[in-house]
Amino acid sequence: MIDRDKVMSAVRMFLEGIGDNPERDGLLETPDRVARMCEDMYGGIKEDPEEHLHKQFQAPGSELVIEKNIVFHSICEHHLLPFFGKVHIAYIPGAKVVGLSKLSRTVETFARRLQIQEQMTIQIADAIERHLEPKGVIVLIEAEHTCMTMRGIKKQGVMATTMATRGLFRDNFERQRLFLDAVKSS
Ligand code: ZN
Repeated sequence: MIDRDKVMSAVRMFLEGIGDNPERDGLLETPDRVARMCEDMYGGIKEDPEEHLHKQFQAPGSELVIEKNIVFHSICEHHLLPFFGKVHIAYIPGAKVVGLSKLSRTVETFARRLQIQEQMTIQIADAIERHLEPKGVIVLIEAEHTCMTMRGIKKQGVMATTMATRGLFRDNFERQRLFLDAVKSS
């Protein structure tokens, strides 16, 4: 649960901490706005991301399922700044598949909390492996981190790429190449 009162007093204290005045006009409503926004940005922490993967159906003959360009926004837990980008997922089904929208919902629930990109990549791959028992799964995330682009070296457009492989995708560079080619073609 988001404790709005706590968030609001923390934001007020933060504003003072950076040397601004929480009582000035432009900032009066800011603690309340931030507290309400927290539900959207961090509400995923109390949801079970894997609930979306329970509703499965038979799909005999499907050799590969690819869902690419799943847009996500999350918050980096090291700097409390947004990172955002695209998730690409492929799996080789066992007996069951899920609706494509369910993969997006799973990604969204993992994104709506403090995260690090490497961890989110692994969480998504593990959730799919656990629930669908596929023969193989691969997850690729490309993201821009505002904690990198807004400060320090300020390298615009630098994308961090992370990948997790399970089952038949693991150590199989030919399959990985096939997936990466499919992701790159748009
Ligand atoms: Zn960061």
